[in-house]
Amino acid sequence: MIRLELKAGREESLRRRPPWVFSGAIASESGDGSDGVAEVVDAAGNLLGRGAYSPRSQIIARVWIFDARLPDRALFRERFEAARRLRAGVLPPETTGFRALNSEGDLCPGVLLDVFGETAVLDLTTEGTVRWRAELEAAAREVFSPERLIVRESGSERDRGVRASSRGEAEPQLALFLENGLRFFADTPRGQKTGFFLDQRDNRSRLRALARGMSVLDLFSYSGAFSVAALAGGARCAVDVDSSERALVLAREARRLNGFDDDERDFVRADVFEDVRRRVAAGESWDVVVCDPPAFAKKRGDLRRAARGYQDVNRLAMTLVAPGGWLLTCSCSGLVTPDLFQKIVFSASLEAGRSFALVARQGAGADHPISLDCPEGEYLKGFWLRRET
Ligand code: SAH
Repeated sequence: MIRLELKAGREESLRRRPPWVFSGAIASESGDGSDGVAEVVDAAGNLLGRGAYSPRSQIIARVWIFDARLPDRALFRERFEAARRLRAGVLPPETTGFRALNSEGDLCPGVLLDVFGETAVLDLTTEGTVRWRAELEAAAREVFSPERLIVRESGSERDRGVRASSRGEAEPQLALFLENGLRFFADTPRGQKTGFFLDQRDNRSRLRALARGMSVLDLFSYSGAFSVAALAGGARCAVDVDSSERALVLAREARRLNGFDDDERDFVRADVFEDVRRRVAAGESWDVVVCDPPAFAKKRGDLRRAARGYQDVNRLAMTLVAPGGWLLTCSCSGLVTPDLFQKIVFSASLEAGRSFALVARQGAGADHPISLDCPEGEYLKGFWLRRET
């Protein structure tokens, strides 16, 4: 265990419980951090908390407990049990794919667990939690009893410049699960994130509820889950656009799996920016456009360029929406606040010369809780815009 002593006055923020300790707040370090455990003390030596140590990260420690207890398997089990009880109360019926552990939102900073039917994917997102792998893995097996547990170490990628590894015992495999009665595959472990974007479940069900008879264009479709939800709601047609061939293979598979056609024309491999420019030039018009790009801003320095990217893609997408039609526009950049995103989207509508009503704001579902202590955990914004003129 390494002991991190904070500079005078820097304990205040930790007293208010955001569980992050920034490297700039450290006055001195002593001891050995090879077990991944950090003890945080104030300038007078009083214990503030204990957590996971990530020496190469700007967030050098993420506190798991604000007293002298050690983060060990018993603590992990307690936290995991509480997370499990929450899900039992909030998941919709016929849904076997869900986020079982949501990092700070479940008092488990640096740990994600997504369950896809019989398979669970544990993602250790910080160097500290990568070091706790054995105990976290054991606790996850005890509490969630998955048939297969795949472990990703995306924290090694971020903190050490090494590619994410998955040393699960299993070969890459598609994991079948249900979302609101629809069948999907998660591409574990080689897909994006843990293999499926569970955070969009509520937006997919909203789309399903309004899609009857409509044409749907799904930009940045990944495995096409929005289109499948739309078709289940009676959409007339749905087209997926993504730059990844693998994603479109999964998208075709998802259509077949749910009894829909998988016509070649409904899957377009292209850069979305180029594809929508072509569609605008061709004068296309769609009843619903879904725009769910990857995070354009990963760090603060990206913000300006990211804002421009969001504004461009939204302007183009808005131009494609028929009168009375819908745009579901999303941003999963935590750095882009809901306020900022709304301003960006407003500017896009000015540039497009179209006016839209903001009908609903819908982020991630209740299986993605956010700690009030750590609002940074709220990253997904989804705005439902209806074209007025
Ligand atoms: N809407 C999806 C998740 C989207 S993730 C869902 O609900 O499952 C973002 C997707 O955008 C990824 O599949 C990635 O391959 C794709 N992508 C990233 N940049 C792109 C670009 N410039 N053009 C097309 N697709 C892109």
